[in-house]
Amino acid sequence: MTNNHAQVGVRLINSINHYGLNIERFCMTGGKSPIGYLKAYLTNLYLSSDSEKVQEAIEAGIAAATMFTPKQDITLHEKELRVAFDGDAVLFSDESEQIVKEKGLDSFFEHEKEHENKPLAQGPLKCFLESLGKLQRKFHAKDARLKCPIRTYLVTARSAASSGARALKTLRAWGLEVDEALFLAGAPKGPILNKIRPHIFFDDQMFHIENAHESGTIAAHVPYGIGQKYHKSTLKEEPKKEGPKKEEPIKEEPNKEESKKEESKKEEPKKEGSKKEEPKKEHGKK
Ligand SMILES: [Mg+2]
Repeated sequence: MTNNHAQVGVRLINSINHYGLNIERFCMTGGKSPIGYLKAYLTNLYLSSDSEKVQEAIEAGIAAATMFTPKQDITLHEKELRVAFDGDAVLFSDESEQIVKEKGLDSFFEHEKEHENKPLAQGPLKCFLESLGKLQRKFHAKDARLKCPIRTYLVTARSAASSGARALKTLRAWGLEVDEALFLAGAPKGPILNKIRPHIFFDDQMFHIENAHESGTIAAHVPYGIGQKYHKSTLKEEPKKEGPKKEEPIKEEPNKEESKKEESKKEEPKKEGSKKEEPKKEHGKK
């Protein structure tokens, strides 16, 4: 899906053929957002680095997430696709997350025990787990479960003893399963993700995305639920790459450069360190 002009299609087709990729469906919208076409294209998952488009897709009921470029090259398993999901506000709705945020952890534990046998409502990525499950079942039906090239993981901050049962019972009620369920009871997700080395990890909370990102995991943010009130869909390291500043710097930059040059001239003898950093920021904006 791209908002490029249709003429770009020729180059895309040449590239797809060059790399031997199996991509048959295209959508080129000539500058307009492609989000309105996602349902018609039977989209199972929409990934983009544009958080606004991802938000639109989630609101349209499509499984979607914002991708962040990894800091370093990551070596991944070549013969197995590993997909890791957070639970609340990703596979499940944010109904329990709301209790954590508004009433605290103790109320959450009580609530989850009381409602242990009541399945949670579905979250934005449930249908993607469902799609993966359909592919997995083709292998399971051939009695080739261990040879299945898709492996799914639930990586949740819930704890197994108190609140984990409801998560597993919900998946069972949906007729879905994950290959591995990891209950971290509030421990950081980065270290375990570093062991799993998933091709993609989905979470609704930016601090988990940042933790995963820092430990070398490809993480994608699902902008859904109450957690969004607390964290925006932007990594701490790159807050200046996004946003509406793109148009303004054209006029502002020369002034800034001049003023910074003047400043650096004045400060030259004192601050050599800050002198080195300033040109990098200017390049980044261009
Ligand atoms: Mg969550």
